[in-house]
Order: sequence, then structure tokens, then C-alpha cells
Amino acid sequence: TKRKVALLFGGASVEHAVSIQSARSVFRAIDPERYTVLPVAIARDGTWLSPEASWALLRGAAVPAAGPAGGPKTDPPASPGFPPGPPWRAVGSPHLNAADVAFPLLHGPMGEDGTVQGYLELLGIPYVGSGVLASAVGMDKATMKRLFALEGLPQVRYLVFERRAVQADPDAVARTVEEAFPYPVFVKPANSGSSLGISRADDRSTLVRALREAARYDATVLVEEGLAVRELEVAVLGNEPPEASVVGEVVPRRAFYDYEAKYTAGGAELLVPAPIDGALAEEIRALALRAYRAIGARDLARVDFFLDKGAGRLYVNEINTMPGFTDRSMYPRLWAASGLAYPALIDRLVEEALRRAGERN
Ligand code: ATP
Ligand code: MG
Ligand code: MG
Ligand code: MG
Repeated sequence: TKRKVALLFGGASVEHAVSIQSARSVFRAIDPERYTVLPVAIARDGTWLSPEASWALLRGAAVPAAGPAGGPKTDPPASPGFPPGPPWRAVGSPHLNAADVAFPLLHGPMGEDGTVQGYLELLGIPYVGSGVLASAVGMDKATMKRLFALEGLPQVRYLVFERRAVQADPDAVARTVEEAFPYPVFVKPANSGSSLGISRADDRSTLVRALREAARYDATVLVEEGLAVRELEVAVLGNEPPEASVVGEVVPRRAFYDYEAKYTAGGAELLVPAPIDGALAEEIRALALRAYRAIGARDLARVDFFLDKGAGRLYVNEINTMPGFTDRSMYPRLWAASGLAYPALIDRLVEEALRRAGERN
């Protein structure tokens, strides 16, 4: 019998659009002989769409204005930052209950961060990817860095500040940064993705502006030493034991790998495999597996590295527990280059989630 796979996509995150692209790619590639797809879309405002509206969005219609499944739509209140905050109505979808397994192809807050994973746990629906805790840790850069530090992974120097401190006295925060390490620095909201809210600062005034900007996105702000780097990425797949792919390299055509570079054609070049020597690739793969285990990740994650162009040192930048999953995205391309084609990768992830559910019963 065919398994019903719910593709969860869209989401109340700035990565809504890329999530739709990920879902479209999976839908095109998934084996229709083996799986029936149930699209479950979440609108930008957090409402869950009906099956009809979800199909329309998956098949390429514009984002529908219609209300969610099972109730009238209530717009979330206007909020100063992005994404909009709760409360929103009509969380969840009756449609989802028919699924044998869910593939939450959601990136960023309200999807990659353990919220949707917790909802699926409550529903008792097995799902692809990390559980609640690892998803939450992977999304919160401050907590992620602390766990990486406990594991002894090499990281760039960084400081963590509360939004309150940034808002009260950004100059004082900037002075603390200046005492810790030199410019340039990178300022990031703790919870983000696709580089949203991230900026590089080269002096006091750009730092103050960057702090204020990051504080719009999250209550915790990170400041990191900015290095001239090459950016290397590895895909990790599976459990007991997880495996690491070949290493890839991102070459942004802009000052850094910002939102524009990620989502504009020609904004960045992806080199798969990365032109690096075998010993370095082996070191990166080993570090990626340690990072994966350090946060307790499951099924899949992309681990991103910096290679300092000056000193040649290697640093773990971050882990993404639901990386971009279009057929052109780095994660699937790394596996394709490692001998696992996109349809087989989807199959393996779905079967892993089903196997886990079977063990529990
Ligand atoms: P993703 O879309 O991969 O989830 P993200 O929003 O989590 O990204 P980061 O990967 O932390 O953000 O940073 C985005 C980009 O900013 C990096 O890919 C890199 O180009 C640049 N960058 C971030 N931190 C530093 C740093 N300390 N030194 C140099 N460049 C940096
Ligand atoms: Mg990230
Ligand atoms: Mg991300
Ligand atoms: Mg990144």
C-alpha cells in the first residue's frame, strides 16, 4: 500500500518562499508509485491552508488569500519586527491527520525551530528530521554555540547580548564589542536563517545600526569577529551512524552570503565538490559529524564552516536542521555528488522516519 506523505511547507517565516520551492522540488521528484502526497501549506501569517489552497500553492498559483482550513482567518496583529508574533488562529490542519509520515520542509522560525516538530509529536505523526530539542537548539545561535563549545568545536570569537541592552544603550554594547575583538564584526539575531537581520559592521556607527537591526528580529543578538573566509558546507544524513557527504563551497558574488546572494540567480556560485585537499575535507567531515551529535540532530542537517583565508584555520559556523531542499540547493547537491540522487535521498529520509515510528509501536 502507498504511504501518505504530508509535505509541510510555506510557513510564518521569512523563508516562506524558499520553503515553497523546496516542496515543489520534492513533489516533482517523489515516487508516485510508492507515495501519495498530501500538501499542507502554512501561510505567511501562520494560518494553515485547506487542502485545495495547499494544492494550489504547491502547483504554482500565487499565495491564496482564502482563510485556513476549518475556520475564519484572523490577521495577526501588526508587529514592529518580522516575523509577526502570535496569537494567530487555526493552527493545524485536519488534513494532516490522514498522513502516515510528515516531511516538514519549513525553514527558519515556526518550522525549523521545534514548534512544528512538537505539534507533530502531539499528533503522533512520525516526521523527517530532528526532534523538538535539536531543532530548537539548531535555530538558536547562542545555544548552538554553547553546545558546540562544550563539544570543543573550533568557533570564531563571539558575544551575546539581550535586545533590552541593545535598545537601552547601543553605544555601551558597541564599546563592549570593541574591547573584545577588532572590526569588522558580524551582527546576527540569535534566531534567523537566510541571513535575514544579519549585517557586517566596520565601525562604531555601522555597528550601532546593525545591533538595532538584529534586535528587530530576535530578543537575543550575537556579535562575531568577522574574518575573511572561504565558506565550506557538508551534508549529514542518517543515524546510528550518521554519514557525511563530500564538502561543497559557496562563493558569494557579494560582500558576504547575504539574503540577495542566496536567492538571486547568479548571487553565489556553489562548487561541488569544493576545491580543497583531501586531508582538509576529511577534517571537515569529522567536525560536521561532531557538530551533528553535539546538538542531537537526526536524519539530516547541513553543517557550515569558515576557512580563514589568512591563518588557514577552520571554524564551525552553524548547523541547519532543515536546510534548503530544492533540487538545486546545496544539501541535495552534496548528496548527489556523493552518489545519492535526489529521489533516492527523499526516499531514504521518508523511510527512516517510518522505520523509527515502527520501532516505537
Ligand atoms: P542560513 O541561511 O545558512 O541558515 P544564517 O542566516 O543562519 O544562514 P549565517 O550562516 O550565520 O546565517 O551567516 C550568513 C552569512 O554571513 C555567512 O554565510 C557568511 O557569508 C557571513 N558571515 C557570518 N558570520 C561571519 C563571520 N563571523 N565572519 C565572516 N563572515 C560571516
Ligand atoms: Mg542558519
Ligand atoms: Mg537556515
Ligand atoms: Mg548559514
